[in-house]
Amino acid sequence: MHGVNKSFGTNKVLDDVSLTIAPGEVVAIIGPSGAGKSTLLRTINHLERADAGVVSIDGELIGYERRGDVLYELKEPAIRRRRSAVGMVFQSFNLFPHLTALQNIIEAPVSVGGVPRDEAIADARDLLARVGLGDKADAYPRHLSGGQQQRVAIARTLALRPKVLLFDEPTSALDPELVGEVLDVIKELAKSGTTLIIVTHEIGFAREVADRVVFMEGGKVLEVGPPERLFNEPSHPRTREFIAKVL
Ligand code: ATP
Ligand code: MG
Repeated sequence: MHGVNKSFGTNKVLDDVSLTIAPGEVVAIIGPSGAGKSTLLRTINHLERADAGVVSIDGELIGYERRGDVLYELKEPAIRRRRSAVGMVFQSFNLFPHLTALQNIIEAPVSVGGVPRDEAIADARDLLARVGLGDKADAYPRHLSGGQQQRVAIARTLALRPKVLLFDEPTSALDPELVGEVLDVIKELAKSGTTLIIVTHEIGFAREVADRVVFMEGGKVLEVGPPERLFNEPSHPRTREFIAKVL
């Protein structure tokens, strides 16, 4: 992301945010409520349109196309095609209630991605096993716990083979005893080299899994660093205050 700005009316929510994330890197974003963390994620996949600045993934601009020196905004379905480089998992799992776990996972690959149904089903079974739900293929969301639903949501996102996976507080809607199973799946993804950007309030998790932690406040990235450094010796006074409060 380079020079990304975003305002809602007079409220400047992203203030000149630049951030480069390497393939395979795991980045945790922390910061107080209203800091702009969700907006930042939404800008990465062009669910929000930046007022200025660009986001590119693997050399491809998200939402725009460069012709000479001028950027042109893409239209659907080109936006959607580029957006498929980015997978997003939300706080609320957003599964289709009338579809089974397996059907939820194959829906987009089959209907949008043009993957043959048999192939999509085989892949969905692998993904369900990977998130520890090999026996839940035929279960409907209402028969799954919140943690299981969130793991299906993760499998559904993985089915689209995104280059980067964004998580917006993936465990904050869960009962405490279900948080661990979802964090374990994310840890496995981190180990397997998936590029992850995770907005989280789980400081212990960020410390353990992240290669780098980003502290945001007031729409600005105030500090970026490896977890040991950022949590143990924050250099920005606001980071220090925030960490003292949440630890
Ligand atoms: P939280 O930790 O509470 O989830 P956050 O860091 O994710 O907070 P954002 O949701 O990105 O913060 O919101 C940043 C600011 O932008 C807030 O002041 C919010 O009210 C405002 N905002 C977000 N989305 C919109 C919108 N669609 N229209 C108007 N204002 C918005
Ligand atoms: Mg948020």
